[in-house]
Amino acid sequence: MVVGGGLIGLTTALVLRHHGVDVTLVEKRATTSPQPKARRFNMRSLEVFREIGLAATVHEAARDLAQHDHMATGRTLAEAEQLPLWRPPGSGASMEVSPELPCLVAQDVLEPVLRAAAEGAGVDVRFNTPLRSFTQDADGVVAELDGARLRAAYLVGADGAHSTVRTALGISRSGRGAIGEPNVNVYFRADLADVVRGREFNICQLDHPEAPGALVSVDGRTRWVFMAPGDEVDRDWSTLLRIALGVPAPDLEILSALAWQPEMRVADRYSQGRVHLAGDAAHVMPPFAASGANTGIVDAHNLGWKLAAVLSGAATPELLDSYDTERRPAGWFAADQSSRRSRDLAAAPDPTLAHPFVLAAGGFQYPAGAFVGGPAEGGEVEPVTEFAPAGRVGTRIPHRWLDADRTSSTVDIGGPGWALAVADDPRRWQDNGLPVHRLDVDFLRAGEGLLLRPDDVVAWRGTDPSAPAAVQEKLLHP
Ligand SMILES: Cc1cc2nc3c(=O)[nH]c(=O)nc-3n(C[C@H](O)[C@H](O)[C@H](O)COP(=O)(O)OP(=O)(O)OC[C@H]3O[C@@H](n4cnc5c(N)ncnc54)[C@H](O)[C@@H]3O)c2cc1C
Repeated sequence: MVVGGGLIGLTTALVLRHHGVDVTLVEKRATTSPQPKARRFNMRSLEVFREIGLAATVHEAARDLAQHDHMATGRTLAEAEQLPLWRPPGSGASMEVSPELPCLVAQDVLEPVLRAAAEGAGVDVRFNTPLRSFTQDADGVVAELDGARLRAAYLVGADGAHSTVRTALGISRSGRGAIGEPNVNVYFRADLADVVRGREFNICQLDHPEAPGALVSVDGRTRWVFMAPGDEVDRDWSTLLRIALGVPAPDLEILSALAWQPEMRVADRYSQGRVHLAGDAAHVMPPFAASGANTGIVDAHNLGWKLAAVLSGAATPELLDSYDTERRPAGWFAADQSSRRSRDLAAAPDPTLAHPFVLAAGGFQYPAGAFVGGPAEGGEVEPVTEFAPAGRVGTRIPHRWLDADRTSSTVDIGGPGWALAVADDPRRWQDNGLPVHRLDVDFLRAGEGLLLRPDDVVAWRGTDPSAPAAVQEKLLHP
């Protein structure tokens, strides 16, 4: 059972269905989010959608903002100019880093796409259905819904920052707390297509002294969010917005004005018994590195295969302990990095921060977890301030194209099952009972093999062809 029909609850349900698990999802609201909130979905998130057959649908939903990669600055929108497209050092095109490009798609556009996909995949999706309380014992979880009781083997709390599930479990959170100043997000409608044509932007920083703030493209034509400093919601936003825009905007209509505070808070436990937290229920972070939802999507990918393995009897429940061991440090890392990012679009990047692709392409290395020979056991450590994936244990396999047409990637090898990627004769590795892929790639040394988990994470690397089956057995039955 998944609680919460936001981005992460829906993605968790989709990943579980992909692994053949029967899922019920309950959402207290009648509809998906009316607010645009998250818009930047990174390469790793698109790789997760690729695995479950949804990447093309998500890119299609993202077509409105396809040309909106630039940032812009100016006193008013009328005077604003695009900044040159910033590319991380040494990166080349992102196609070389991932089989998928990142995309910009507003959360209120993406959530209905995921909801339809979940319903189509056979998830029992119940909106208008709040979870009121739950109990758990050794056999399962009993959830109290309005007028109904639902029994499930496991419960995933993907119920957002104010998580009912986390609160009921008494799980505390740590972190830097409130970061910087509060903001008011003014969501409005105005036909500005002609004003921005040729200067399209993702975010435009406006510094008019009477109406400073950041203008965010929601569809790039008629829907926008103006992020203004302060916490005063009841202001004459129509007048202030027209000053910031520098154009009359006769059709301007305010849709909502909501105050919010950037925060960093990470749950002190991601799992308790048969209940697991994912997404904002587990971690909240300032949006300036666009990592909140993206981190939650990888939570869903990590938790999904583990729950499926336990439910099918392929693994013992102790495998699920690795969800907290792996994803809590990952959540902390993303939240900490997000807290240290500047919101000033023109500021020079801070070289002490993680390389952006480490956040965006799944470059975070789990220190410990369901793998053998990771950093906690003296294994090779992945750098953070540069992006140099090399198939180290505890990281996602590096992307390399496997065919001249660039349709198939090393990232496609894992999932939904385990697999072996080997440097030479595949017959040597066949006794492990896993699909064996011979790869001619720079990160595999002669004679070496990589054991890949269903979430593309390297679980072991070595030259002993008899080792992978034993390692897999040990990881599934810790
Ligand atoms: C201004 C802004 C910009 C952002 N930009 C980005 C970005 O570019 N990229 C990015 O990755 N992230 C971004 N984020 C963060 C992102 O919006 C969140 O991380 C994301 O929405 C978290 O999704 P979630 O599903 O975990 O939680 P939510 O979206 O909060 O969904 C939780 C759901 O659970 C439901 N629920 C709660 N309690 C119950 C209950 N008792 N029973 C049933 N249902 C319940 C709620 O109604 C809700 O639908 C941004 C956030 C903000 C505020």
